[in-house]
Amino acid sequence: VVILGIETSCDDTAAAVVRGNGEILSQMVSSQADLLSRYGGVAPKMAEEAHSLVIDEVVQRALDNANLSGNDLSAVAVTIGPGLSLCLRVGVQKARKLAGRFNLPIVNVHHMEAHALVARLIERDLQFPFLALLISGGHNLLILAHELGHYLQLGTTIDDAIGEAYDKTARWLGLDMGKGGGPALEELALEGDANSINFSIPMRQHKDCNFSYAGLKTQVRVVMESKNISIENNPISSANSEDRRLRADIAASFQRVAVLHLEERCQRAIDWAIKIEPSIKHMVVSGGVASNKHVRARLRHVVETNDLQLICPPPSLCTDNGVMIAWTGIEHFLSGRFDPPPPADEPDDAMFELRPRWPLGEEYPKGKSEAR
Ligand code: ATP
Ligand code: FE
Repeated sequence: VVILGIETSCDDTAAAVVRGNGEILSQMVSSQADLLSRYGGVAPKMAEEAHSLVIDEVVQRALDNANLSGNDLSAVAVTIGPGLSLCLRVGVQKARKLAGRFNLPIVNVHHMEAHALVARLIERDLQFPFLALLISGGHNLLILAHELGHYLQLGTTIDDAIGEAYDKTARWLGLDMGKGGGPALEELALEGDANSINFSIPMRQHKDCNFSYAGLKTQVRVVMESKNISIENNPISSANSEDRRLRADIAASFQRVAVLHLEERCQRAIDWAIKIEPSIKHMVVSGGVASNKHVRARLRHVVETNDLQLICPPPSLCTDNGVMIAWTGIEHFLSGRFDPPPPADEPDDAMFELRPRWPLGEEYPKGKSEAR
């Protein structure tokens, strides 16, 4: 089996070709980071145009670098959600064109399932059931993966995801968003004193596995106001050394508490998961924020203290990529879950399924995080 994976759910246009044995034949990512830094976020219409501009080239290069043509593929896998529907549409349309032309089945992929399953590509010993913490720009999920396609959601965010909090804080601190807010904040935090500001840890009174980052964001803003650091148009490049120190202290303290929140929720999720599935041995940590070194080190400690093994994909497979889509395609394809090829002459305005909002599995305990 060899599968092409296509990903356009958010701000990266990605494609990759992966073999059934896990061999990565090619991977391409075209990032909109520069657009993001100029406009301060993902504007759907602009993101859609950016995807449309590069999608043909990204896919063609993935095939060329793998030395394959459409004829050599077993199927095409594509993200159909969750994400921005305008953006998802670009990838799905491309996938259907190609699949129609070469008579290939299509595998519909859940973006967050792919963030989790890519861990099984890098660690071939990773068997179901396992626990997964997925931390990214739009999601904060604690998932108990029973088996392929069967997931229990132990926790989610009741407001913002941690990546969103990193990005917003980085912007307020005046960091260069060109390489992404998260990495820039992680770097600045190295200069600061993580204990200098006593931000409070979110949701301690709630004895569940849900997350909240909106309050921590507000705490950051309040501290910045109290220290007279403007949160708008105040690049750190123009800060004097005392101002820079202050900003680094805020970054380090924010990061300490943002990650403490993850640690506490993970400990509880491990307690829950062991009761539900006593045989679990692994915890996966994936999604863009999992490329952060502090995050990885602290969660490794929590996981290993509980005699579990941490599996964290390399950073390039934590942030959005085509490999995880192709690999998830392989897992589903091999278990017989795919759609027949679309017609070769499918018109551009044909209807097809997108799932901009798409929960990953059943909530546990039932109905607990509904009050949002
Ligand atoms: P989702 O997966 O929820 O749809 P997304 O696909 O946009 O969102 P990813 O590419 O998986 O998100 O992750 C991007 C997020 O990860 C951004 O918020 C970014 O700031 C964050 N991130 C990336 N690297 C780091 C880092 N080193 N430290 C902290 N955060 C990081
Ligand atoms: Fe993602």
